[in-house]
Amino acid sequence: MSPTGAEVLRFIKSQIDEVDPAEVHRAVEAGDAVLIDVRETHEFEAGHLPGAKHVARGHLEQQIEGAAADRNQRLILYCAAGNRSALAAHTLKDLLGYQHVESMIGGITLWKDRGYDVVVPKSLTKEQRERYSRHLLIPEIGLEGQQRMLEAKVLLLGAGGLGSPTALYLAAAGIGTIGVVDDDVVDLSNLQRQVIHTTDRIGVPKVDSAEESMRALNPDVQVVKYRTRLDATNVMEILDGYDVVVDGVDNFPTRYLLNDATVRLGIPVVSAAILGFDGQLSVFKPFDGPCYRCLFREPPPAELAPSCGANGVLGVLPGTMGLLQATEVIKLITGAGEPLIGRLLLYDALGTTFTTVKVKRDPECPICSRDPATIEDSELGVFPDYEAFCAAAG
Ligand SMILES: [Zn+2]
Repeated sequence: MSPTGAEVLRFIKSQIDEVDPAEVHRAVEAGDAVLIDVRETHEFEAGHLPGAKHVARGHLEQQIEGAAADRNQRLILYCAAGNRSALAAHTLKDLLGYQHVESMIGGITLWKDRGYDVVVPKSLTKEQRERYSRHLLIPEIGLEGQQRMLEAKVLLLGAGGLGSPTALYLAAAGIGTIGVVDDDVVDLSNLQRQVIHTTDRIGVPKVDSAEESMRALNPDVQVVKYRTRLDATNVMEILDGYDVVVDGVDNFPTRYLLNDATVRLGIPVVSAAILGFDGQLSVFKPFDGPCYRCLFREPPPAELAPSCGANGVLGVLPGTMGLLQATEVIKLITGAGEPLIGRLLLYDALGTTFTTVKVKRDPECPICSRDPATIEDSELGVFPDYEAFCAAAG
C-alpha cells in the first residue's frame, strides 16, 4: 500500500535538519546563513524575512545556484508553515548535494507569532506589471528601476516643442510625478511640432492640455501644473523637491537663472536647444561635470540669440531632441548607462550626423566653482538686461 502524503512528509522531515525560528533569527543577525524563501512570488511579495532570497519551490532546481552557488555554505529554507521548505531541503540535500541545508520549523507564520520582523517589499499592481512589462524585461531597468521611476519627480520647463515628446514619453514610462511650467496657451502655429496638444485645444492653457494628454496615456502619473514663467522670485520654490529638471526653455535669461538655481540645489538638468535643422543636448549635473555657465560664460551676441523673435524649426527636430532628453532623464533616475555629463551632443538633421564633444568644468566658473551655500539669491540668473539685449539686436 502506498504511503499517504502525511506519511511522506513525516519521513522527509526525519531525513533533514529542522531549525527553530529563534536560531534562524540569531543566524540572520550574525550573517552566517543564506536565507531562502521557497514560497510563490505573490506570497514573497506580501512580506518576507529580512535579507531572504526568493527561489520558489517550483523553480528550485533551476534557480538555486543563482541564489547560493556554494554547496558548502549554510542554507536555511522557509515557507509558510514548514512543509514546502522541508521538501525543498530534502531535494537540495539528496539530489543537489548541498551539505548544510535546514528547514525552518513553523515557517513565516511561526516567525511572525514570535514577533520577529517581516519586510514588506513595495510591489507593482497587476496592472502596472502589465503596463511596464517591457521595462521589467530589461535587466538595466527591471522592477527596481521601474519603482525608482514611479517614485521620481521630474520638472519640465515648457510644454512646447521639446517638452511635448519628453512629457508624453516620460508619462508613458511611468515617471510618478511630472511638473510642468508654462504660462502660454495652445496656438495653431504650435501644432506643427507640439504633439502633446491638439487642434480642439487651441486657446487652452498648455499646462492643462499637457496634463490631459499625459493622464489619458498613464493615470499613474501625477501632474503638477505651474501656469507661470520661471523667474528669480519663484525659481527656488518651484524647483524644490524635484530629482531632475528638463530644460526646454527658449531664452537665455531663464537658462542662466535655471543653471544657477540648480547648481545651488544640486539638481541635474537635461538641457536641449533647437534651431532650424540643428539640435544640441547635454546633461549638467552639478559638480560632476560642467554647468551651463562653464560652457557659455557670456550669452551669445544678441543678433544671434534665437529667442529674440520667432525662429523656424523643422517640426520633427524637437521630437528627436526631446526623446534624447527623456532617455537621459530615465538613465539619471535608474542609474542605467552613462548619462551625457561633460559631453555636448550636436545633431545635424540635414547631414544626419551626431557629433559629441567633450566639455570641461571651468575652474573659474562664476557659479559652480564655489561652495553652493555661498550663492546668494541676488546672484541667481544675473544677466544683462534682456529687453535691452534684444533691442540691441535691432
Ligand atoms: Zn560652472
